[in-house]
Amino acid sequence: MKKIKFKRILLKLSGEALKGKREYGIDPEFIDYLAKEIKPIYELGVQIAIVTGGGNIFRGLSGSTHGMDRSMADYMGMLATIFNSIALQDSLEKNGIDTRLLTTIEIKQVAEPFIRRRAIRHMEKGRIVILGGGTGIPYITTDTTAVLRCLELKCDIVIKATKVDGIYTEDPNNGNNKARMFKKLSFARALSDKKINIMDKSALALCSDNNIPIIVYNMHIKGNLTKILLGQQVGTTIQ
Ligand code: UDP
Repeated sequence: MKKIKFKRILLKLSGEALKGKREYGIDPEFIDYLAKEIKPIYELGVQIAIVTGGGNIFRGLSGSTHGMDRSMADYMGMLATIFNSIALQDSLEKNGIDTRLLTTIEIKQVAEPFIRRRAIRHMEKGRIVILGGGTGIPYITTDTTAVLRCLELKCDIVIKATKVDGIYTEDPNNGNNKARMFKKLSFARALSDKKINIMDKSALALCSDNNIPIIVYNMHIKGNLTKILLGQQVGTTIQ
């Protein structure tokens, strides 16, 4: 049996991840690809909790810049994460993976309420837990949710799936060929360097204070997630 590096992980899938190549909304084919990327690590016996984002559908901040009350808009954002969670659950189950969807905003017909001990028990029984609804509190991001749940559920690491290979010295997307990717990055630099914008600072600070490493990797490269769990160098590790 292959040796796994992390026994229990918190995987953060942003809305960006779930929209695939679309401009907006959910791309079932891409979610199926993600499910197929998750399956090998599930079969290795890794315990997995997934926090979904909602930016592919609605972000509270953009609602509020168009005149909405920020809290109301944020609740819509939280509901968007539950949309994404249901789509992800459908896809994981179709791929033969046992899952449970737990939400902070109760939707009894589709999900269990988030209860810490229950979430841990599900993982121990070999079920992937999908955590929808963010923290259930406005003014917070799903990155911060991911870190909080990582701590509560005693996961070993936060793994953030993105469309870029890792964290760069400068934005590589602006034709910037000076940009260099970090293999390792300290929390101190991630927090102080204004050019580094991969996660909100409160999420980073929480990880730093509690010694939880973060790996940022490119989800579009097949097999990357498995490589991470087998201890191979992929993406950027912040620690
Ligand atoms: N949100 C919130 N509280 C939370 C988590 C999320 O209010 O604890 C709302 C917020 O409006 C946010 C939206 O849900 O804009 C979607 O989450 P996020 O922007 O973090 O998603 P991602 O960028 O990962 O797609």
